[in-house]
Amino acid sequence: MADTAPRPAAQNRRKAGRHRGEGQWAVGHFTPLNANEQFKKDDDGLNVRTRIETIYSKAGFDSIDPADLRGRMRWWGLYTQRKPGIDGGKTAILEPHELDDEYFMLRVRVDGGQLSVQQLRTIGEISQEFARGTADITDRQNIQLHWIRIEDVPEIWRRLEGVGLSTTEACGDVPRVILGSPVAGIAADEIIDGTPAIEESHRRIVGNPAFSNLPRKFKSAVSGSPLLDIAHEINDVAFVGVDHPELGPGFDVWVGGGLSTNPKIGVRIGAWVSIDEVADVFEGVVSIFRDYGYRRLRNRARLKFLVADWGPEKFRQVLEDEYLLRKLNDGPAPAAPLAKWRDHIGVHQQKDGRYYVGFAPKVGRVDGTTLSKIADLAAEHGSDRLRTTVEQKMLILDVTEEQVQPLIEALDALGLQAKPSAFRRGTMACTGIEFCKLAIVETKARGAALIEELERRLPEFDEPLSININGCPNSCARIQTADIGLKGQLVRDKDGNQVEGYQVHLGGALAMEDSTFGRKVRGLKVTADELADYIERVVRRFEEQRADGEPFAKW
Ligand code: SF4
Repeated sequence: MADTAPRPAAQNRRKAGRHRGEGQWAVGHFTPLNANEQFKKDDDGLNVRTRIETIYSKAGFDSIDPADLRGRMRWWGLYTQRKPGIDGGKTAILEPHELDDEYFMLRVRVDGGQLSVQQLRTIGEISQEFARGTADITDRQNIQLHWIRIEDVPEIWRRLEGVGLSTTEACGDVPRVILGSPVAGIAADEIIDGTPAIEESHRRIVGNPAFSNLPRKFKSAVSGSPLLDIAHEINDVAFVGVDHPELGPGFDVWVGGGLSTNPKIGVRIGAWVSIDEVADVFEGVVSIFRDYGYRRLRNRARLKFLVADWGPEKFRQVLEDEYLLRKLNDGPAPAAPLAKWRDHIGVHQQKDGRYYVGFAPKVGRVDGTTLSKIADLAAEHGSDRLRTTVEQKMLILDVTEEQVQPLIEALDALGLQAKPSAFRRGTMACTGIEFCKLAIVETKARGAALIEELERRLPEFDEPLSININGCPNSCARIQTADIGLKGQLVRDKDGNQVEGYQVHLGGALAMEDSTFGRKVRGLKVTADELADYIERVVRRFEEQRADGEPFAKW
């Protein structure tokens, strides 16, 4: 664990002003204004680890304090999962304890999406031994396991930490996993390798009690790829590779992005930072969030609301004047990416002459045995490095030219395609009703079935098309950023019966000169059974009507 610096909020304490009612610490408002703020004040979420190790894992599920169970355990990547058999119509009606199963989802953070063969093998073994073989690659580059018993958590931590992995602050009101370009350090077209900045930011911030009580979750990303491959616009802070005309390669700073019910595209603060400055700025932005962030209402607590109120100029000024105590250099915006696909799937030459192979599990769902086999395949083909992507996909790095084709064939035998259809490549799904307590509908199995159906109906289609499926109004699978976003809800079928279905959002796009969220198509709801028919119709119309080379978002 990192150092325990005192919270500098006290230094920044202001007289109570007109924003006092938002609960910002920086204006002296330390009285908790909701139940979440209260449990965070009562005890730091990081402290629950000791209780898990010494009490809960020995005395069992029923011994867990409710404030730990539904609150602080998230600080160590643990969420109770949904009790099987409860349908989506009951999600909003039942009390939290009625939805809780006595098993947990465990999120393993994979900062930068970077894994060694040994690390992946360890996760695969843990999945098989403790998680009934479950494993999902998430759209934030993490790996999630299910069916975890509290009794097994200390042993799981011991094994993860033995290979340099952790679940520290994988969930909760804390700095979550730091996204990174899946091709950091290897891509031939890279502007700058962000890996050292991710490592230094992680070292200073993750597990540090100075940053373990934030108003809400804090999402971050660092990429020096010109493909803009980390969805930087929807993170609380993001560092995007740019080449400054005088200062050289560095990063453009973005703040205040986020999805869920009030989605906002992040804004540039117009500053260029060198690789050595990233951790300072990262720490400064987290500190602003801790000190000035809104703590009154949970649904107005993300950094995006403060940024929207302040604007980028004031945000930069506070960052420079109160936290960095120096001015930042001005810098240029990143250029729009030229590539048609930006997901790193397929075979690509690295700057050292070797190759990386990106491949696609369906909607991020794998299993422990498959993870172990992927680790074995990487090792057998001369690689010790793997990466996860923000599209729920994976890469094996450092493959020699002779080993590329044998590796592709071996992956294919596992059902993992390096030349996937556009639908397998472009479809993501959140956890959904199988395990998530907030879910209203099924997502993963439906997403996998949808891919197979669209591959059968539209075998020639080969254009970038993102189809993102959420199980509820939250946005864990980024529905607002997709070409076709599907928000799970209960709808009426043609006979008037209430069935699982989706509200459709169309035309979302990131990393274009005009990034935009998809439009909610008023009244356009499809039942789960109609989904393939609907998407087939949209795709066929797109193919007929679009101008040459026109992407879906512009159509
Ligand atoms: Fe659960 Fe909703 Fe997030 Fe899906 S979008 S994982 S259903 S909270």
